[in-house]
Amino acid sequence: MAASAALASRALQPPRRHFALRPPRSRAATTSTAAPRPRRQGALAVAAGSTRCCRARAVATEGLSADPSFPERDDRALSGPVERPEADVIVIGSGIGGLCCAGLLARYNQDVLVLESHDRPGGAAHSFDIKGFNFDSGPSLFSGFQSRGPQANPLAQVLDALGESVPCASYDSWMVYVPEGQFLSRIGPTDFLKDLEAFVGVDAVQEWKRLLDAVIPMSAVAMALPPLSIRGVKSDGALSAEMVYMFAEWYKPGCMLEYPLEGSGAIIDALVRGIKKFGGRLALRSHVEKILIENGRAVGVKLQSGQIVRAKKAVVSNASMWDTLDLLPSDAVPRSYKDKVKATPQCESFMHLHLGFDVENAREDLGIHHIVVNDWNKGVDGDQNVVLISVPSVLGNGLAPPGKHILHAYTPGTEPFSLWEGLDRKSAEYRKLKEERSEVMWKAVELALGPRFSREKCDVKLVGTPLTHKRFLRRNRGTYGPAIKAGEATFPGQATPIPQLFCCGDSTFPGIGVPAVAASGAIVANTLVSVSQHSELLDAVGI
Ligand SMILES: Cc1cc2nc3c(=O)[nH]c(=O)nc-3n(C[C@H](O)[C@H](O)[C@H](O)COP(=O)(O)OP(=O)(O)OC[C@H]3O[C@@H](n4cnc5c(N)ncnc54)[C@H](O)[C@@H]3O)c2cc1C
Repeated sequence: MAASAALASRALQPPRRHFALRPPRSRAATTSTAAPRPRRQGALAVAAGSTRCCRARAVATEGLSADPSFPERDDRALSGPVERPEADVIVIGSGIGGLCCAGLLARYNQDVLVLESHDRPGGAAHSFDIKGFNFDSGPSLFSGFQSRGPQANPLAQVLDALGESVPCASYDSWMVYVPEGQFLSRIGPTDFLKDLEAFVGVDAVQEWKRLLDAVIPMSAVAMALPPLSIRGVKSDGALSAEMVYMFAEWYKPGCMLEYPLEGSGAIIDALVRGIKKFGGRLALRSHVEKILIENGRAVGVKLQSGQIVRAKKAVVSNASMWDTLDLLPSDAVPRSYKDKVKATPQCESFMHLHLGFDVENAREDLGIHHIVVNDWNKGVDGDQNVVLISVPSVLGNGLAPPGKHILHAYTPGTEPFSLWEGLDRKSAEYRKLKEERSEVMWKAVELALGPRFSREKCDVKLVGTPLTHKRFLRRNRGTYGPAIKAGEATFPGQATPIPQLFCCGDSTFPGIGVPAVAASGAIVANTLVSVSQHSELLDAVGI
């Protein structure tokens, strides 16, 4: 049971076959009645914030829909002409990694242009509106948004450098549903230990303390170096990196979790504002078809429209490693690099369920995060075994119409793409599979929301599949990211064998997740400017 915290961070990391989380058998309660009653969830403290209502956003989920009233969208990107088709640095993709990279480059006075396939920025972290419900498409568990102190976070440091901030609500817990029962898991140095003792036993507490004794000194070393100060880093032991980072944040006194009051899209809005404020540009509907290589160096890109955009200093790809490889002319890439990318194991994809429903349709003490584990024997990366649920409208402002909630449930990187490969999205077979494979999420939602919940009474019901995920996020096989095993291989980092070509995002930095991709973007930006420019920025930001 000491694993519940690691389970929560499951949303942030790829599945690993060796990542076996089991409750200590001897002490585990065996029936749900043996478990302590859940406490009221999510001690909420609104840290700061505006009460601005739902931002007006166009509907972005065509094709996600389980409801035939939502139109399907053509798969192809909508390429448009880019004004002034040149820049010092071109960034391909506007995921959080690409936006952090571009933001810092703009802050360094570089002429930077972000080219994004889609009609909205954010990649896995974009948000979308349906019928007045403002949904997150991906991340909702962010730890803290402070740029310094025990919870110093790379994304917050980039936002600081851009003079931007994201108003957040803070909270301290999430609900855990395991075969033995359910409990509210609280972060911090004491409450979690009490929960652990009550739910599992003294042995589990000792086990947890031994784990923390090993991890905390490593985290002290990791946190001693502000992420914004890094220029280039070799990394391995991905799971260890994740644990060192998360555990340092979550089990120290005074640590809190935070969620943006206006939803995760507010993070993207803040990054885009920061880029533009410093003269950077973002071109949406600008799908890059090829990276141009001349004399062995990356010198620009060719868009799907045929337009050529030149880069004087560098091209940075925020696409996954597999998608970046597809953008390169085959003869420009060393064989060893191709082989390494192709041999890198991938996490599986996602099933998504987005719901909009009446507040009355759920239990009164509803918290933001819920983790459901169906069977310990299957492991947390088992097929249809773990469902993560977030209900950000319990904390956020104006994310749903008055008296309504939004909910996003998903199977975290465990849905096999092979089950869906080649299916026609308009076929009966696809619809049937969608129904079958979404059932586990519906059941988890029913467990988390309690007996008042009714599927029939939802205002919005959207089911997304790995095909949806692949299409909307432009990710090879809809993957969550590389499944690089600690100790066996390393993340490739940001440099590539092609001069002037760099990569950022979740294929490059251990941990996947928002902090990792923000750090990866910052590292590329820092690497592209002189040491003196880099240290001037650190001085200016006060890091
Ligand atoms: C469902 C889900 C839940 C998650 N939950 C959490 C969480 O709670 N906490 C957390 O920290 N992390 C979470 N994550 C992980 C986190 O969201 C991702 O690791 C992170 O957002 C990935 O960012 P990225 O910069 O690597 O790029 P992506 O978000 O993958 O963005 C890449 C962008 O590049 C664009 N692109 C690709 N190819 C091209 C091209 N050829 N031309 C132009 N544009 C292109 C894509 O359209 C996309 O916008 C979650 C992820 C998912 C999917």
